[in-house]
Amino acid sequence: MEDKVADVAIVGAGVIGLAHAYMAARQGLKVVIFDKDDFAVGASVRNFGLIWPIGQDPSVGLKYAMRSRTHWVEVAAKAGFWINQNGSLHVAHHQDEWDVMDEFMSKNRNELFDIQLLSAASTLQKSEVVRSKGLRGSLWSATECTVNPREAIRRIPLWLQEKYGVVLKFGQKVKEIALPKINTSKESWKVGKVFICNGADFQSLYPAAFEAQNLVKCSLQMMKASIGGEQDLIGPSLCGGLTLRHYTSFKNCKSLASLSDRFDRENPLFKKHGIHVLVSQHANGDITIGDSHHYNSTVEPFNDNFIDELILKYLHTFTSFNNLNLKEHWQGVYAKHESEVFCRVEADHGVTIVNGFGDAGMTLSFGVAEESIAKML
Ligand SMILES: Cc1cc2nc3c(=O)[nH]c(=O)nc-3n(C[C@H](O)[C@H](O)[C@H](O)COP(=O)(O)OP(=O)(O)OC[C@H]3O[C@@H](n4cnc5c(N)ncnc54)[C@H](O)[C@@H]3O)c2cc1C
Repeated sequence: MEDKVADVAIVGAGVIGLAHAYMAARQGLKVVIFDKDDFAVGASVRNFGLIWPIGQDPSVGLKYAMRSRTHWVEVAAKAGFWINQNGSLHVAHHQDEWDVMDEFMSKNRNELFDIQLLSAASTLQKSEVVRSKGLRGSLWSATECTVNPREAIRRIPLWLQEKYGVVLKFGQKVKEIALPKINTSKESWKVGKVFICNGADFQSLYPAAFEAQNLVKCSLQMMKASIGGEQDLIGPSLCGGLTLRHYTSFKNCKSLASLSDRFDRENPLFKKHGIHVLVSQHANGDITIGDSHHYNSTVEPFNDNFIDELILKYLHTFTSFNNLNLKEHWQGVYAKHESEVFCRVEADHGVTIVNGFGDAGMTLSFGVAEESIAKML
């Protein structure tokens, strides 16, 4: 007979909730996880599966990202899911892209990044699917890892249950928290602390606390494709010049302005639809391609074929996939803090909200959770 008592309750079994559950459980605390759905279907299973330190600002997110990376490798080995420490390539086919990479290199030599500028020939040795025509070179970063989020996010809770006795309560929506009580759609528990990691569903619990946090929702279009034949292994995860203006790590590069102007002249729709293009590859050879970014407090649920076409059009400017066979299209939605890397606030005594990670929740999760639990203890 379950006593329905725990030290820590986690609301949400996405990557942020799971990372907090792990960090609490390994301190010997009794943990219960609630998720309103029977299995995770939020942003954490709809992403590329990229652990992406190279996108993090060295003054803010990078240290969390590097801690996370260490934990991802360890958790993958222990829980038994696939992880590829394959690094990443930002490839340059224009001088302005190369200029940004060069400036980034010189500014960040002493940071935690593990980066190197590669010639065109060395780039092609790393990945045979990079487009060779007009290739100037690339920025190689060794720190990025890839997991299959659908596998990892569904395996981690089972492993937490097996290894640490974490109690899993899927299919139970948390409706009310008044410590020590936490009431779900089915049960009432007595708990010491609560972490609310409810992702884009942030309007239902503590609406006033969330309102004060300037969170916005973002919807993204994503695709999966098989590539067939001899190009099965793309090597590192890939991106092109548009990504240089997407992530905050590059924002201090003065040379970014002329790159950005060129893209706006060539195709203003990239900015309008928030398009930059990443390619990740999972163990079965399929690649994940995305994405676009549309921000609003309520997001449209409809994918637009035209946007997928724009993404694919840009993909073909820096890669040379011959047998791209699209298998899936989907929408992801995440919550993003408008000015901070994420938000962690006390909604009530003993109740902490951890949210707003934007497109870096996989990357930052374990690092931030480690700090949350240390602060709590
Ligand atoms: C298309 C896309 C691509 C991305 N690519 C990457 C990437 O490659 N690398 C990276 O670092 N990040 C990436 N991100 C960002 C990353 O996926 C998110 O930042 C992260 O998944 C957010 O995790 P979360 O746990 O906060 O939210 P979610 O994964 O959405 O989980 C929240 C959970 O809370 C549950 N919940 C909500 N309310 C309740 C309630 N009242 N009771 C019980 N349960 C509740 C929900 O059911 C859900 O399972 C991407 C995001 C998207 C959408």
